[in-house]
Amino acid sequence: MKKIPTKTYLREEELPKCWYNMKAVMKEQHEPFLNPKTLEPATEEELSKVFCSELVKQELNETDEYIPIPEEIQDFYKMFRPSPLIRAYCLEKELDTPAEIYYKFEGNNTSGSHKLNSAAAQVYYAKKEGLTSLTTETGAGQWGTALAMASVYYGIDLTVFMVKCSAEQKPHRKAVMQTYGANVVPSPSETTEVGRKILEEFPGTGGSLGCAISEAIEKSQKTPNCKYVLGSVLDHVSLHQSVIGLEAKTVLDKYGVTPDVIIGCAGGGSNLAGLIAPFVKDKINGTKNYRLVAVEPASCPSLTKGQYKYDYGDTGRTTPLMRMYSLGSGFMPAATHAGGLRFHGMSPVLSKLYHDGYIEAIAVQQTEVFDAAVRFARCEGILPAPESSHAIKVAIDEALKAKESGEKKVILFNLSGTGYFDMMSYTKFLENKMVDYVPTEEDLQKGFNSFLDIPQNK
Ligand SMILES: *Cc1c(COP(=O)(O)O)cnc(C)c1O
Repeated sequence: MKKIPTKTYLREEELPKCWYNMKAVMKEQHEPFLNPKTLEPATEEELSKVFCSELVKQELNETDEYIPIPEEIQDFYKMFRPSPLIRAYCLEKELDTPAEIYYKFEGNNTSGSHKLNSAAAQVYYAKKEGLTSLTTETGAGQWGTALAMASVYYGIDLTVFMVKCSAEQKPHRKAVMQTYGANVVPSPSETTEVGRKILEEFPGTGGSLGCAISEAIEKSQKTPNCKYVLGSVLDHVSLHQSVIGLEAKTVLDKYGVTPDVIIGCAGGGSNLAGLIAPFVKDKINGTKNYRLVAVEPASCPSLTKGQYKYDYGDTGRTTPLMRMYSLGSGFMPAATHAGGLRFHGMSPVLSKLYHDGYIEAIAVQQTEVFDAAVRFARCEGILPAPESSHAIKVAIDEALKAKESGEKKVILFNLSGTGYFDMMSYTKFLENKMVDYVPTEEDLQKGFNSFLDIPQNK
């Protein structure tokens, strides 16, 4: 077997022509979305009032294992894909581990993260449906930036509700979105009814993803020819992200490498879902025993401390109800530095896989995460996003465990993005001013109290 190069890119003709739909190989599906008013399963028609119709079709597709990527989207992808699969030779040496460490690097585009994989697809379908504008929310700003890039590419107007504390922490993110033509509104804002209501209830709040989603949905409903798009959580977003796993698997297969542990950070779950997508089938069928690991912040531990319940996706309680691991839509996460991981819930499809025992979850503290980030940057060169560094932290731990046991373990993780807009956080860490947050029982209970009192299946 050839020694695998440090960095491998697929050739253009090897790039995925279809997305991989994990749901087609799952033995059981997650429960259907519910209409929040009737508590009946939400119909395709109801969902299409909020989301683009073709995306709703993808969302509900439980049968097609492969879903073709339209050629126009493939062309857009070629502007920033393939992304490299990197063998972390330097990190392995630094850790002095017998483990092999591979990572897929999704930060090589201006938006700096994997989010562009879904933005490129979502705006294409919006345009095709004849919409003229879109609204969305952004936490740390990566999704807003990716969507701004895609919107200007396809010629669609975009309003981004950006979580207020992030907008203040990262003014340059806002400027990048504006450069790509987006209208950026710090959230909660006075521009929507729900924003005004939240401001009344929590004056001075720095906002949250849940609030920003409520505002974006409201604006989309009140604007003609406009719909709302979401950068994570939903199954169609995970579907688009499957290009990450598909490319990674093609390279590894070429070199005859089989991962033992596959790791991703999990906010709404889309980059992890995309990474594991083509590996899940073997795991479910029992032909391979990969360990699939979700890493979340201890400050917002939806998988490790949350409950598997029907819940809203937003604080304003307007979205369809999803059965997912959640801390409750009323949970207010601490203002930690991995903005992209501060969401109270988790992708319904990942939640189901976790509930059925196919995925493990680990919660980590932000200071140990930044410690891993700095260590990684100093040997691999790439400056990682705080979100992605959650995966790095656990990859390093796995490699160190392998060192102790002498096991020749193969580790694959997703490096979901770069951290150039997170330098205030890095500075805080380097000056020893960063502290860890863990929600108290009381904080958690407050979130749980916001669950609806409706019957939940086992
Ligand atoms: C948004 C984001 C995440 C978290 O989102 P998922 O849907 O869980 O993937 C992780 N890393 C980066 C760099 C992000 O921008």
